[in-house]
Amino acid sequence: MRPFEYTRPARAAEAVAAVTADPGARYLAGGTNLVDHLKLGLTAPTALVDVRDALDDTVRTLADGGTSIGAGVPNSDLAAHPEIRRRYPVLSAALLAGASGQLRNMATTGGNLLQRTRCVYFQDVTTPCNKREPGSGCSALEGHGRDNAVLGASEFCVATHPSDMAVALCALDARVRVLGPDGERTIPVNGFHRLPGATPERDTVLSHGELVTAVELPPPVPGARSTYRKVRERASYAFALVSVAALVQVRDSQFVDARIAFGGLAHAPWRARRAEEVLRGRPVTEESFQVAADAELAEARTGRDNSYKVPLTVNTLASVLRELTEEDR
Ligand SMILES: Cc1cc2nc3c(=O)[nH]c(=O)nc-3n(C[C@H](O)[C@H](O)[C@H](O)COP(=O)(O)OP(=O)(O)OC[C@H]3O[C@@H](n4cnc5c(N)ncnc54)[C@H](O)[C@@H]3O)c2cc1C
Ligand code: SF4
Repeated sequence: MRPFEYTRPARAAEAVAAVTADPGARYLAGGTNLVDHLKLGLTAPTALVDVRDALDDTVRTLADGGTSIGAGVPNSDLAAHPEIRRRYPVLSAALLAGASGQLRNMATTGGNLLQRTRCVYFQDVTTPCNKREPGSGCSALEGHGRDNAVLGASEFCVATHPSDMAVALCALDARVRVLGPDGERTIPVNGFHRLPGATPERDTVLSHGELVTAVELPPPVPGARSTYRKVRERASYAFALVSVAALVQVRDSQFVDARIAFGGLAHAPWRARRAEEVLRGRPVTEESFQVAADAELAEARTGRDNSYKVPLTVNTLASVLRELTEEDR
């Protein structure tokens, strides 16, 4: 038994003050990730500050036509929200591709962004893991490596980020609103999750005590088509081997713009800027799909077990682009 304090403040500022004051304190939201970690012994907080009463759980339209999603909005409510389904279908699809109905009912927008890697060694306290215990080593480098990252990894950590929702948010250029001991700040979601470098114990750019209060989406791009495609080992209830969130704008059979993010490939959702650059101004052809995918994956580094991810990603992106441009060819 490891005793810890449990509080459930009514206001975000109280929650921030409580966690900031105690280096061992953690926020608790839906608990679908954190409670598993308590049971597995991955973390032993001195206090849990339950933020479910303190967080906004509404979806609102902003003055600029964008959308604000309270960090307390459950994943299932967000996926089913009529405005999200109509204006940001890629986000709804990504949420519905994740976990199960029961889990999505409990899981929150903030907790989903902050969920931790599913690396099997991270979750097994009997094995070395730099993310769990800095300096102890990385068991995944020589061990079971099917899920390892192929982009942006380091010698310290080759884990991948598990969230589907975050991949769609990256393609949508969302912003994360945060309240900390020094006040509020807004962080672009592209850059919110870190690459591992020499400090894989830090998943995001947040400091201790900072609380995610909302996610903001810019107004939808007129005429853009979008989709989320997740490749996994079974049809539901499995994390992505590879996933693609894509939005494209096409005029006269030519790409005007493309926004693409990958899941399952890196320590953070991976914004495919090179592929986007290649596609802009190019004709909608099979060759363009291939050149774009190859450009993005050119710097992929694979190990013994995960080389399949490169052709799988190339083929998945080509298939997504084909689907989104069917009527333009
Ligand atoms: C069996 C299973 C299958 C799953 N499959 C998928 C899947 O396919 N795809 C997918 O994307 N996810 C999947 N998940 C993960 C699930 O989406 C996450 O567990 C969930 O989104 C976490 O949200 P939560 O509110 O329960 O977070 P919690 O478990 O409460 O918290 C998670 C972390 O976030 C921190 N935190 C929570 N809220 C905030 C906040 N507002 N500000 C700052 N920090 C905060 C907590 O301190 C904790 O570290 C699966 C989970 C399980 C158990
Ligand atoms: S890949 Fe990262 S999370 Fe997995 S064992 Fe290595 S250091 Fe730990």
